[in-house]
Amino acid sequence: MVTQALAAGEKAAVLAEALPYIRRFWGKIVVVKYGGNAMDDERLAPLFAEDIVLMRSVGLRPVVVHGGGPQIGELMNRLGKTPEFSNGLRVTDAETLDIARMVLVGRVNRDIVSSINVHGPLAVGLSGEDAQLISAVARSPELGFVGDVENVNAGILERLLSQGLIPVVATIGADVAGQSYNINADTVAGAIAEALSAERLVYLTNVEGLRKDVEDPGSRISAISAGELDRLLQDGAITEGMIPKLASCVQALRNGVRRAHILDGRVPHVLLLEFFTDEGVGTMVEP
Ligand code: ADP
Ligand code: MG
Repeated sequence: MVTQALAAGEKAAVLAEALPYIRRFWGKIVVVKYGGNAMDDERLAPLFAEDIVLMRSVGLRPVVVHGGGPQIGELMNRLGKTPEFSNGLRVTDAETLDIARMVLVGRVNRDIVSSINVHGPLAVGLSGEDAQLISAVARSPELGFVGDVENVNAGILERLLSQGLIPVVATIGADVAGQSYNINADTVAGAIAEALSAERLVYLTNVEGLRKDVEDPGSRISAISAGELDRLLQDGAITEGMIPKLASCVQALRNGVRRAHILDGRVPHVLLLEFFTDEGVGTMVEP
């Protein structure tokens, strides 16, 4: 363990370094998108839970929004269905929707809730279908039951937060007729952050941050504005899974969210590093 390598004085210094950050973030809402790909490493799940519980314990109000693409893909493989993608979005027929809903709501959501609740009665799992949290509309006919967020009913989240609870959201939405849709988790995280006027919107993913050159891990952009991001998106410089992340990020920052971060979810305790130390990790996006 790293902590054993630190002398007592160094440990104390790390804790003291956290003080101004704890004060700054006290009472603030932080929406954390936990990526399907960052969730793949089982050893990291308990560390993620610790980070979320620690944030909550020092007065922040975290909301977790999770994906589950790889986990959905895995069950589809087992069932002999081939996943199909178009511009980073899963093409979803009725059977695929059924699988996605079972995996996201029935398994991934439960796993995250349980790992947090090892530390106390804190996390409550929700699907976007609960209390009309996420009203969805079909994105386009060729994507099937892939939805876009039409409306977020943040009231249910506010009520849970006011009780000191940690909402954990699976990104299935429902339309007015009760039809369910699978919605990209990045898009939902941005919409929820916007609806809650969150202080921070964090995407935990499986790269060290936004790269200037997709192929070059050394090309991480440490800070960028929403305007510049928007230009990158328009230029077609962004591909695959980064598209919904950055698009939702730009939208959220233009609508009241104070700052966003794209962080490497494969780094142990990356949330603690970002929120409570002077370390600058990942990509920071400001309005
Ligand atoms: P998540 O499960 O976290 O949503 P995604 O695979 O959907 O993960 O999105 C992250 C992926 O986006 C990266 O692993 C990388 O392959 C891809 N990507 C595309 N363009 C970039 C870029 N400019 N910088 C970093 N990653 C990029
Ligand atoms: Mg993704």
